[in-house]
Amino acid sequence: MKISRPDTFAGTSGKPGSQFTGDVHPYVTMAATDGVTINTVTFTPGARTFWHHHENGQILQVLAGRGLVAAEGEVRVIRAGDTVWCPPGERHWHGAAPDSVMIHTAISLGTTQWAEEVDDSEYARGATDEQGDDHVR
Ligand code: MN
Repeated sequence: MKISRPDTFAGTSGKPGSQFTGDVHPYVTMAATDGVTINTVTFTPGARTFWHHHENGQILQVLAGRGLVAAEGEVRVIRAGDTVWCPPGERHWHGAAPDSVMIHTAISLGTTQWAEEVDDSEYARGATDEQGDDHVR
């Protein structure tokens, strides 16, 4: 048995890495353990991940605010209370809406492969679609 406590990871928040655009505050909830990694991430408005995929998939539990999750050709609005399943190997990104923070707990299974940044025009398209409720394009 292993218990991860907040003091274990003091100081790990507020370090934007190369896999994010904008101001992001990641917090390691549980470091990689038997192929499972849990991060609780606060995205400020407009902030998002780079494109990436997860070897064995990922669960996103939206704790607060409103944001976007996108796979190729599809952008969806996510809100507090939503749970998202990202299948193994599916390229996607996730982040805040332009006008809201978004906090999610991300349960990542297996390794994560990072790719290119989500450029502003691509993000803006998703943000525009956000006007429609749960719109899919
Ligand atoms: Mn992901």
